Amino acid sequence: MPAKIIDGRPIAKRIQSEIASAVADFQAQSGAAPGLGVVLVGDDSASAMYVRMKRRACERAGLQSQARILPSSATQTEVEDAVRGYNADRGIHGILVQLPMSAHIDEEAVLNEISLAKDVDGIHPMNIGRLGMRGREPTFTPATPTGVMRLIEETGESIEGVQALVIGRSNIVGLPLALMLANANATVTICHSRTRDLPGTVRRADIVVAAVGQPEYVKGDWLKPGAIVIDVGSNSLPDPASEKGYRYVGDVEFESARAVAGYISKVPGGVGPMTITMLLSNTLKAARRSISG
Ligand code: NDP
Repeated sequence: MPAKIIDGRPIAKRIQSEIASAVADFQAQSGAAPGLGVVLVGDDSASAMYVRMKRRACERAGLQSQARILPSSATQTEVEDAVRGYNADRGIHGILVQLPMSAHIDEEAVLNEISLAKDVDGIHPMNIGRLGMRGREPTFTPATPTGVMRLIEETGESIEGVQALVIGRSNIVGLPLALMLANANATVTICHSRTRDLPGTVRRADIVVAAVGQPEYVKGDWLKPGAIVIDVGSNSLPDPASEKGYRYVGDVEFESARAVAGYISKVPGGVGPMTITMLLSNTLKAARRSISG
């Protein structure tokens, strides 16, 4: 039997409509909408597109958003000042620094500037550290891994005790996700570009999350029958048959994986909408905390 498709769009829509009504309640109570401040450095077109998508999602849910767009020639001080400006702004409850930034910028120093109370992308080194330590709670967890966890939960299958495999160990996706799966009591394996026998390792996993950045890399015949497969990948491939001339594919070869997996997320329309939704949810949370003292 082919896998059940995990469609992130209706799940994200449902959560976003809950957020919109909570935002309206917040505004009625406090007199202002929750505010998100975005810092974007450079002219990377994909980053600019992600920022536009986040702005539109904020508008739809009734949040207000601002963006500080700095040229790729911006200095370290200018970027850190943009973050400090949002830290001091009482109308901004959440700060998102769009990554990656230009190579000459010291990313860690910028992220260190984000106020922990406003770190709605959960990317401050202190929050990532807390995620990895027993008994410590981060103020926020990163949006994409949190969205992945929600998609896994939507299957209704247990995470506790099962073998979970994350392919990729980046600071924004793979590593925090592996920590979140371990915190949910999965037995976690992290694979990366130096892993030997990736197919053999994948075959033992009940949950496979692909965050590799290589189009259609994970094949169906690597998978354990019935596995939950979450595809974080978002890669554009030339496609003369499509109107735009390209199409988006994930890091998993969808058709072959669908024939073997128990559940598989879509690309596009799986993790992407959940990432934005989790960012909105965290910004609302930050705004609520700001008035509850
Ligand atoms: P990075 O490039 O930062 O990390 C990729 C990871 O994959 C690295 O850990 C790398 O290993 C590993 N890797 C690369 N090649 C291989 C290989 N051949 N075999 C096994 N592991 C490999 O990417 P990100 O984590 O930022 O993103 C991953 C994917 O997720 C991308 O497609 C990106 O576009 C997408 N993405 C989607 C989002 C969404 O909202 N839908 C949000 C963020 C990302 P090593 O550490 O050894 O280099």
